[in-house]
Amino acid sequence: MAIIVQKFGGTSVGDAERIQRVAKRVAATARKGHRVCVVVSAMGKSTDELIALANQVSSRPHPRELDMLLTAGERISMALLSMAIDELGQEAISFTGSQAGILTDTAHGRARIVEVRGRRVSETLAAGKIAIVAGFQGVSATADVTTLGRGGSDTTAVALAAYLGADSCEIYTDVDGVYTADPRVEPTARKLNELAYEEMLELSSCGAKVLMVRSVEYARNHDVPIHVRSSFADTPGTWVRKESDLMEKAIISGIAHDTSEAKVTISSVPDRPGIAARLFRALADAGVNIDMIVQNIAAGGQTDISFTVPRSDLDRAEELLRPIAEEIDAAGVLTDRNVGKVSLIGAGMRSHPGVAARTFEALAEAGINIEIISTSSIRISCVVKADDVERAVQVIHEAFRLSDEVVYEEESPSAAAAE
Ligand code: ADP
Ligand code: ASP
Ligand code: MG
Repeated sequence: MAIIVQKFGGTSVGDAERIQRVAKRVAATARKGHRVCVVVSAMGKSTDELIALANQVSSRPHPRELDMLLTAGERISMALLSMAIDELGQEAISFTGSQAGILTDTAHGRARIVEVRGRRVSETLAAGKIAIVAGFQGVSATADVTTLGRGGSDTTAVALAAYLGADSCEIYTDVDGVYTADPRVEPTARKLNELAYEEMLELSSCGAKVLMVRSVEYARNHDVPIHVRSSFADTPGTWVRKESDLMEKAIISGIAHDTSEAKVTISSVPDRPGIAARLFRALADAGVNIDMIVQNIAAGGQTDISFTVPRSDLDRAEELLRPIAEEIDAAGVLTDRNVGKVSLIGAGMRSHPGVAARTFEALAEAGINIEIISTSSIRISCVVKADDVERAVQVIHEAFRLSDEVVYEEESPSAAAAE
């Protein structure tokens, strides 16, 4: 008998019929003798609809009230799923995040789970019943309802799997695994059988929303194996787990893209110590996350600094930076909302030279200009025009022949040695 956590995303519980289908799957797992804890997202696009509603009645919805509103979405699906399971003759009990003991910090809209006190959930399983938990939500130390950020039900599922010591955390979604690129952008993308946490972390933080980045972080920290699979088919999906010697050693695991960022350039900044510190301290204190930064070579004692920020923070960043730019005698603050980021990720990159060159060649051949580049030991990211993002994914995917099972080989001795 295993303990299994199953999480169903918004599309999977999108209407009554789909909820009934999920109920059948959950009931079948329980009937095999397993203890099942289910985590659900809000139905279909209901979180987006609730946000739109909030924006209709308020220009700046209060974060506490917004969280109160959004958590209602998951509450609807948990109760409906519980009823549907009951209809199949099995006992299920639904719990809000708070009732399930998901304790978070107080950061409304992006709360972090600090502890799971899931006694009610474990007692429910021990009594042979199915526990259904509303994803994406918790309760803070000040007893306020919080949400974990978009896609947060993934994190609820992993946190409960860690708490329960579950054998695996199954993430059921509308694709049948993690692919070499978003299959909606690159139709020839290939499903991966397995991936190391580190690679999935990079893919998620670079925009592959199939798993929320925090859920992968949590899984890595607590060693929870994740199985991403389809809610509409029975085929095995993708396992995300600790890197092992037995794993397929592809040089490139996949390509992620992200169109949620914007670019800021502070032009003609005096080239002297303390300027970058001044600019980025102001942004950090305001809680604006910076992603990629590039400082050009100084010419005539001046330099340009460009970086990316989440598009939702752009107005605030601009407001903060204008007076500082004036104070430090920079020429101005330029912003560009029409950018996107394409990232190539693979643990094998560490030992393979030539990956960056091949990436840039592919973009050059397609006439795509690169505006900012950043790298880690297992990632290369390029900022390009928003309109070029999808084509960039496609040409890089093609350049590395990611749709074939073939591993890309660079003609170098280190490449040969690593195979
Ligand atoms: P859910 O509602 O089930 O949580 P999401 O919409 O959050 O589902 O995540 C699934 C989506 O992630 C897919 O429909 C797909 O378009 C997108 N996606 C992005 N990158 C990838 C990738 N590399 N592999 C699979 N899906 C991806
Ligand atoms: N319903 C929330 C969202 O749309 C959480 C989730 O689906 O994971 O972001
Ligand atoms: Mg999701």
